[in-house]
Amino acid sequence: MTMDKVTIQEASRRLNVSQRDVREYIRRGTLQAERDPDSSTGRWLVELPGDGWEDDFKAFLNNMAAAQTPWWWAFDNKIGKVHYLLQVGIEEIMPDFLCGLRGENLYSSDGHTADQRCPECLQAAVSQKLPLWDD
Ligand SMILES: [Zn+2]
Repeated sequence: MTMDKVTIQEASRRLNVSQRDVREYIRRGTLQAERDPDSSTGRWLVELPGDGWEDDFKAFLNNMAAAQTPWWWAFDNKIGKVHYLLQVGIEEIMPDFLCGLRGENLYSSDGHTADQRCPECLQAAVSQKLPLWDD
């Protein structure tokens, strides 16, 4: 089955959520998106989800509520370190982590251990007295 790929604006309209939310879902990996190779501005194309998206979306919201943490995997292979994200910007999809790393995306760090945390992020967070969200 071929997915429709549409702009963020169009995805916003079709899914009946704000453009900000569409960007947020892309960052979280809830929606799949890619740079439009034919666009000089590097705009994003969003894969419109199929049936069942709303159920997935509800599960996503529940997960988000349950897992408010600043620690994220930057790459989907979940190898390496989890990084500290101070704040998710509105316009930018690519997250900038506290250590300066620019991630490809955000992936839930559920189940990560303390020794998987990026030492530079940890040091910066501690020196700025940011919450580490230890359980
Ligand atoms: Zn880091």
